[in-house]
Amino acid sequence: MKLTRRDALRSALGLGTGAAVALGAQIATASPKESTPAAQAPVGLLYDATRCIGCKACVINCQQANGLEADTGESGGLHLMPTDLSCKTKNIIKLYQSPDSEEHSFVKRQCMHCAEPACASGCPFHALEKDPVTGIVGWDGAKCIGCRYCEIVCPFEIPKFEWDKFNPKVVKCELCRHLLKDGKEQPACTACCPTGAVIFGRREDLLADAHGRIDTNPGKYFEERVYGEHEAGGTQVLYLSAVSFQKLGLPKLETQSLPEYANRYHRLLYQWMALPAAVYVGMAAVIQRRFKKHDEEAKAIEEAGGPRDQL
Ligand code: SF4
Ligand code: SF4
Ligand code: SF4
Repeated sequence: MKLTRRDALRSALGLGTGAAVALGAQIATASPKESTPAAQAPVGLLYDATRCIGCKACVINCQQANGLEADTGESGGLHLMPTDLSCKTKNIIKLYQSPDSEEHSFVKRQCMHCAEPACASGCPFHALEKDPVTGIVGWDGAKCIGCRYCEIVCPFEIPKFEWDKFNPKVVKCELCRHLLKDGKEQPACTACCPTGAVIFGRREDLLADAHGRIDTNPGKYFEERVYGEHEAGGTQVLYLSAVSFQKLGLPKLETQSLPEYANRYHRLLYQWMALPAAVYVGMAAVIQRRFKKHDEEAKAIEEAGGPRDQL
């Protein structure tokens, strides 16, 4: 069997030859051509925090592949050092460490490419839209009016606005759709990951892969579940972690998506004209109270000897 540099690196990282081969097979099934948008299926990422070594190669590759300005953060302009997602950073690796330093984990954050994206649902001009085939949520600058409603409604706090630009953009991960369109097999972050901590593929393949890892490693993963399988109606970016998802900054969310929740609320309000009727009843009550008060005041003035028509 031919040993590649990637296999050697995996072995050095303690994944072992067997694990490396298995991981290679997983990558092979999850990433190549059949998994690109041409496969006519929703695509996404699977990030396994237990395999991430925090090298940040994915952060740098993402920044370069997307032509983003370097965020030198607190380095005084010396190094690429983003501290959070921003209009210069679509993808970030953060470190969680417990106060006693006993527990730690890296976490990758970027757009989750929700199955029912609140950003797209909330955008009044459809500047954010979910591709009907790949499920990638992309932004269209020609339609955006800069209202920033997407920033407010996203449950994962992902879209970032270019405050300092004359013609500002809304910046977020678009799963490197420009690379996929150009025929590349995978996004920049997965293409460079040395440990396979983040892989690209069809969502259903990634989900099966994630459950396979849980089944073959009992007790390894937090709550033996995949974050993103059901949260907010499901997302196309999925997570496995040994540490609580909330500790990694991934919000605890209901299985219902925000657009579905909003629709239900809307339906309830308007069912049988409930909202207009409630507004009408409320207005009638206010008017009636005003008339009553007016009559009482007029009567009081009349009794005091003043003319009623003064009111
Ligand atoms: S994570 Fe936020 S920005 Fe990304 S698709 Fe979901 S709602 Fe939209
Ligand atoms: S898919 Fe592309 S834009 Fe999204 S995090 Fe990865 S490299 Fe960045
Ligand atoms: S390139 Fe892979 S191992 Fe390195 S920080 Fe990113 S996800 Fe983790």
